[in-house]
Amino acid sequence: MIINFHEHPWEGVGAHNASMGIDRMVLLADRDSNDLVCEMAEREPGRYIPFYRADVNDIPKSCQELRHYVCERRVRGVKFQPLSQTIMPNDSGLYPFYEVCQELGTIVLFHAGAVAFPKHYVRFGNPVHVDDVAWDFPDLNIVIAHLGGNYSFEATVIASNHPNVYLDTAYLHFFCDRSLPKVEPIDLVKRAVEFAGAEKVLYASEDVHPSVISDSDLPQSTKDMILCENAQRLLGEL
Ligand SMILES: [Zn+2]
Repeated sequence: MIINFHEHPWEGVGAHNASMGIDRMVLLADRDSNDLVCEMAEREPGRYIPFYRADVNDIPKSCQELRHYVCERRVRGVKFQPLSQTIMPNDSGLYPFYEVCQELGTIVLFHAGAVAFPKHYVRFGNPVHVDDVAWDFPDLNIVIAHLGGNYSFEATVIASNHPNVYLDTAYLHFFCDRSLPKVEPIDLVKRAVEFAGAEKVLYASEDVHPSVISDSDLPQSTKDMILCENAQRLLGEL
């Protein structure tokens, strides 16, 4: 079984993932698609794993909403996009929300990496601020997306330091193409495995085909962990 830990709810997403041999996927909601990802998960139970998007401008309401989505709609995590939400992960205003996530066992996934985009301030893309959250919430399971993007070194250090911080591999080609010296997605994965541990890396797609992992020279047990078992453990299924 292959689990894609970072996907979005677009038309045809299920068929596209199936064509890559992917059985299950985390679906990350935008602010207006919280119900959509839940409906998709309810229509095909087990296939889609819904993640909620909070309104960072109304944290009390988001805390309440999260309880509803976790208890009634089987939401398993929350996605933050600090660049478009213009908020640092360690903003103290988010801490009451993290308390609720920690209490409910809800995973928190942070986008990381800066992409040239109108009105995106690069500072929000640096995952270094996730370190504070990991120290302050040792029982909160945290995923740094895109293996940190153009901050993969920082992300790998943070994941090495905290048992509760994981790294996903989504969209790695994009960041690798812009790196100097040039690296390949598998190079970043191998560095994360070596320094943060094989149990910390979660396969995720966005143009990263599972064969990047399965055709590599990593040990079979490591491939199984990255493609499936780490996600299952994080989701409480192992
Ligand atoms: Zn994404």
